[in-house]
Order: sequence, then structure tokens, then C-alpha cells
Amino acid sequence: MTHRLSVFSAPGRFLRGNLHTHSNLSDGVLDPSEVCRRYRDEGYHFLALTDHFVGVFGYPITDTLPFRTNSFTTILGAEIHSGAMENGELWHILAVGLPKDFTPANAPGFSPVTDQETGPELAARAMEAGAFVAIAHPQWSGLTVSDARSIAAVNAAHAVEIYNHGCATGCDRPDGFAVLDQLLAEGRRLNLIATDDAHFTEPDHFGGWVMVKAEANEPEALLGALKRGDFYSSQGPELRDVVIDGDTIHVEMSACSAMIVSGAGSAAKAVHGHSMTRAAMPLRRFANSPFIRVTVVDAAGKRAWSNPHYF
Ligand SMILES: [Zn+2]
Ligand SMILES: [Zn+2]
Repeated sequence: MTHRLSVFSAPGRFLRGNLHTHSNLSDGVLDPSEVCRRYRDEGYHFLALTDHFVGVFGYPITDTLPFRTNSFTTILGAEIHSGAMENGELWHILAVGLPKDFTPANAPGFSPVTDQETGPELAARAMEAGAFVAIAHPQWSGLTVSDARSIAAVNAAHAVEIYNHGCATGCDRPDGFAVLDQLLAEGRRLNLIATDDAHFTEPDHFGGWVMVKAEANEPEALLGALKRGDFYSSQGPELRDVVIDGDTIHVEMSACSAMIVSGAGSAAKAVHGHSMTRAAMPLRRFANSPFIRVTVVDAAGKRAWSNPHYF
């Protein structure tokens, strides 16, 4: 039986976007117009400006509609906060596709207070309001697997942020795979995103993005594709095809030096080579894994990641 990852069979074209960014309406340093200009002029097709939705900043849902052009669009959103994680710190949740009048949480600042929603409750409310929801920067937050389970248990997240470029440049804690792979091994179905989380306070921009397959560069089409999982994530390389044909996986990509398949627990396998644009691998090693996912690595060490495939 042959199965092609839906992102490669879905109609439309690939559109490059960053889903996590801040402006000076919260703790970023640039005006929303300049943030949008920079992403537009770097060749991005779309941007979600996701300022911190807390009281100290007046609960901003930054209006980026004036900065749309014929070739560049924006999705309204915010990084939303409420409730304490196991370590006592405030939840950070990415919500892309929020209505302008989304009701604020009782979140005055960056410390949890009593009488506020839990993180999972706020995430569920954002999802009901139409947002694509992701658990932000797990490694930077010190998020535990049990924190992540609490949001997955109520199906209040579409994805985990597995690479956060700001956390890479600012504190060398970019990872979300430790948490995501554990949830996937437990049978949860979540996708993965790479983002910038740019504040423009350091070289925290243009380092991680999503490539969304959509029929139009419009917010609703992009959001639909994000929610369906019709995208992959990248720091540079392109993923061009992923096909599971019986017990073999076939991957096509821009020139890379490694293709890695990861599954549950210790299940993982790599193919190395020079300027490979295609690679294949038997899947026997993954016979006991409920999922696999693909990573490709180019000669500069930059990666691209597929969403999971479930058996
Ligand atoms: Zn955050
Ligand atoms: Zn952020």
C-alpha cells in the first residue's frame, strides 16, 4: 500500500510563513509595520504577528491588515498566557488565527495569579475561537511531559513548537522534540512547527519557518491547511516528497547530506550521503512505533522536518 504525506498530494503551492513574532506592542523592539516589511522583503508569503496577550500590554491582537499586499498576507494571532505549569511559571501558548475581539484571559503579567484559566482551558478557548494552537518553546519554558499531556488530553493543541529560533540564539534551548516524541509515542496526534519567535532584540529572525501547501495565499486557506497538517517545517532545506510504499519510505528533497527517520523510543535510522536529492530506507526498525517522522539535514547543518505519519 502506498501512502504519500498529504502535504505533497494536497492541491495548491507552497507558501513560506512565520507563525510566531513580536512587535513593540508587547516586548519586541520594532513597529508592526517594520516587522511586516522585513518579513515581506525577505520573501515570506505570510506572517502571524503574535504579541503577548497580557494585561501589562493591554491584551494586544496586533492589527496587521494594513501591511498586506498582493503577494504577502498576515494572520491575526497572539501568544496567550494563563495558568501555571508544573514548575510554577506561566504557560506560553501560540494561537494563530484569533478573532480581533478574542476575550482576554485574566493574565495581568508574566506571573500566574489566582482565579485565572489553566493553560489547557485557555488553549481550548482559542481553538474554539478558530485558532491554530501550538505549545510554545517547551525546552525554554521547562515544560514537562505531564504539562504537555494536560493540553493534549483535552485536544487543545494542533502542534508543538519543535524549533524556536529565538530560543536557539538567545539561550541554546530551541527544542520541542523531547516532549513531542513522547506524546506521539503515547498515541497522541500532534503536528510540529518551526518558528522564529522574533523580537528583533538579537539575531532571532529568519531562522525557522513553515512551508504551507495552500490553494491561495489568504488567511482562511492557510489556517485550513495548518489545521489539516498540510505543511512542513524548515531552517533551509526543502522537502519535496515523502511516500511510504509498503515497508519502504522514499523521500525527495533539496540537496542534503542526511535523511533521518524517527519513531517511538529509540527507533531511529539515518542515511548519509553527498548532495542527496532522494533517499530510501526500509521501515522494519519502526514495526513497533505508532508513528514515524522525517528529518533532512543539509551540508550546512540546516534541517527540515515532516509532520508525523501514523501507522
Ligand atoms: Zn513565549
Ligand atoms: Zn514569543
